[in-house]
Amino acid sequence: MSNTQGDVAMASDDDDQVYANDEFSSMPSISQALRKTSLEQLLADDKAETEKADEMLRWYHGKISREAAEKLLKEAVIKYRNKSDMGGLFLVRDSTVSTTDFSLSLTADGKTYHYQIQEKKEGFFHIDDGPLIHGVECLIAHYTDSANGLPTNLESFCQGRPPPHNVRKTGRTSNLLHRAVIEGDAKLVSQILASPNCPDINAKNKTGSTALHMASYRGNDDIVELLLGAKPDLTIKDRNGHTVLHRACVGDRPSTVHLLIKRGHCDPQVRCPHNGWVPLHEAAMKGSMECTKALLEEQATPFPRSDDLETPLDVAEKYRRLDVMRVFENFQPSQARTNRKDWYHPELSRKGAVGLLEYSSLLSGLFLIRPSKRQEGWHALSLCFQRTPYHYEIKNTHYRDRFVHFIDDGPYLLSLEHLVQHYSCRADGLPCALRHSVNTSYKVKDMPSYEDYCNLPIPPGDEDAYRPDLPPRPSSIADECPPTSPTTPEPPTPFSKTSRPPLPSNPPPAGRPGVNDGELYKINVKHIKKGAEIGQGEYGSVLKGILTEYKGKKHKMDIALKMFHDASLDNRENFLREALVMQQLEHDCIVKLLGVCQGPPLMLVEEYLPKGSMLDFLLDYPTEVRVKQELYLWASQIALGMMYLEKQQFVHRDLAARNILIMTKRQVKISDFGLSRATGSGSDYYKASHGGRWPIKWYAPESVNYGHFSHASDVWSFGITLWEMFSYGESPYGDKKGIEVVQFIESGKRLSKPEKCPDVVYNVMLRCWKADAAQRPTFKELNRQFQEDPLYADAREFLKQNK
Ligand code: ADP
Ligand code: MG
Repeated sequence: MSNTQGDVAMASDDDDQVYANDEFSSMPSISQALRKTSLEQLLADDKAETEKADEMLRWYHGKISREAAEKLLKEAVIKYRNKSDMGGLFLVRDSTVSTTDFSLSLTADGKTYHYQIQEKKEGFFHIDDGPLIHGVECLIAHYTDSANGLPTNLESFCQGRPPPHNVRKTGRTSNLLHRAVIEGDAKLVSQILASPNCPDINAKNKTGSTALHMASYRGNDDIVELLLGAKPDLTIKDRNGHTVLHRACVGDRPSTVHLLIKRGHCDPQVRCPHNGWVPLHEAAMKGSMECTKALLEEQATPFPRSDDLETPLDVAEKYRRLDVMRVFENFQPSQARTNRKDWYHPELSRKGAVGLLEYSSLLSGLFLIRPSKRQEGWHALSLCFQRTPYHYEIKNTHYRDRFVHFIDDGPYLLSLEHLVQHYSCRADGLPCALRHSVNTSYKVKDMPSYEDYCNLPIPPGDEDAYRPDLPPRPSSIADECPPTSPTTPEPPTPFSKTSRPPLPSNPPPAGRPGVNDGELYKINVKHIKKGAEIGQGEYGSVLKGILTEYKGKKHKMDIALKMFHDASLDNRENFLREALVMQQLEHDCIVKLLGVCQGPPLMLVEEYLPKGSMLDFLLDYPTEVRVKQELYLWASQIALGMMYLEKQQFVHRDLAARNILIMTKRQVKISDFGLSRATGSGSDYYKASHGGRWPIKWYAPESVNYGHFSHASDVWSFGITLWEMFSYGESPYGDKKGIEVVQFIESGKRLSKPEKCPDVVYNVMLRCWKADAAQRPTFKELNRQFQEDPLYADAREFLKQNK
């Protein structure tokens, strides 16, 4: 906004306070003043003061014609003949061609000139190619200071009235209503509103706030309610471009948010002209979880995009508002209140659309939606405005884990129905809102307006009622294997070629089967209570939760919820397939998958292991972990769990201390079953999100070189895991890069013995790291090794005592 004049700096949140302190600090409060005089007298004085302050703004003449303006200017010149040529005499009037613009009529050199004052965006005006200025009064001030390209500067004006508040950037004074709000006196506010001398309800103070802006920011709901009763203009913005709803969010006032929308029908999608933020962006930035929830409950569109194309969720992420992020992640849209049959034309071409719209007389706001010819899966919106049909592409994409539709830079909307509802409430960038639809029987139907939508009942929360649109399945991935070439390692798979896990009862076809998630145990979202975040996984956060019912029985079970926040449908399938495998596993040393919850977001529901990951535990509580008790026991348990996996012919591929979870100090479990694989590209995936922690450091040479994974390569990783344990969480190979580690290993070198590691254990590690996979021990041997080690006696004793 380089051309914008005037102050766009954010006013401090407490500018109301500044007012209270500065402007009124020397004044008695209204209630004090009322001891000496009547309210009517105070209001009359206040009015006189406001008029005096606005005296220099009385150049506005409303809706008068160009001729009338010229006549007024001529008369004034005659009247003040004594004053040279009256150059610079002017007035401002409403534009005759546009409802949002103004005209400036000006005399110079004995001639009259007329200029269009154009509103480029809400509240911002310019004349020709002059600067864009916030507030029409600021624009006049700009041309009063100097001609700036006009034939003369503006010197004097024909007496009219001050311009309306909605086109002003700020007011000149705080009136009694502003002051009563600052004093928080609802009774006084109500008395003022009842008086014939009540100030203009839309009047702005010096920060551009109306009384309702102040009350909303302060969350004074009694007063907000009273002010709403006086029918204020709810589209008015303060100096920062904030509506009252933005202010309620900045002030973190969820109850006010509800009130403004329910009672006032404030539109939550109104953007700030400075940055395109809607109130939801403000709530997200502030980290106000309650305002975020309130807005979503009141049907605010969840993923609007700002001028920088950021959604409130992006903003929350940027400012690390984890609570707010979670609200968006768990957000379940309610059904849109419009019906596809009223406007969707699956067979129609662009030409056919124009024909149909013409048949219905190209009524402004008449629209229909049809498939796009340009790209399969996209749609087109055909909309009439001023007797001309316009066509907009409705694209779709994956935003995080959602499939969304959007027009240009507009909001991401969760279905075509939501899109129609959004754009029928407001134009939001289109030439006009969608006002009438035309259906396949050529019937024209009026769309509800925003206020109508507010009053329509929300459809009942039928869980199956809302189904997001799914994109067409690209033919390239349908039922075929990913290409492999002999020169590049084959993409890692959780199953080695020779060892497939026993397949679920209804085995998916070979290759890349679509997951029949019907085989997964589904957990109803109703039976899940989400709690705090306990970790960050590759796909999103991991939350603690409580399961209230499981397999038809009432329960109160602690659970871990692994959220799936990946954008691609492909990954979702993989994610589900891994879950399917995990569901088959049942062992004390393996984290139990209880089921999946389809959300959105999609979640894996697992048993909860209160002590979290072994790696973190080793780093955080090293003194609680003793070599002969805990470490020996844990090593044998991991080997036992891996033995079970081996029996099930399952290759883990990601065995590492970070993926061992601790139930109690005497029970650890293996987690993370090849979920990494679900991203489709093993190495990139780790690079992307695990920073310095390369899985290469856990990989056997044959896995690194040939992408070959087997029980023997899991044994190599087990050796690295042991090394992490006995070094109490150190990072294997330190700062070495992946490629350096590969060279280090190839030259025959190995990790050295951690300080506290007994020789026998280090010898086990070295055997796990034999270059020849066949020479490595099996998990069966490894388990025996730990249990038969005389040192394990302590662990066994420990286990017994704690049973
Ligand atoms: P990813 O598969 O993306 O690597 P993880 O399963 O490793 O995700 O989970 C990330 C973190 O979340 C873990 O380090 C752990 O702290 C926590 N976590 C995951 N699952 C559980 C669980 N079942 N019980 C307790 N904490 C868990
Ligand atoms: Mg992990």
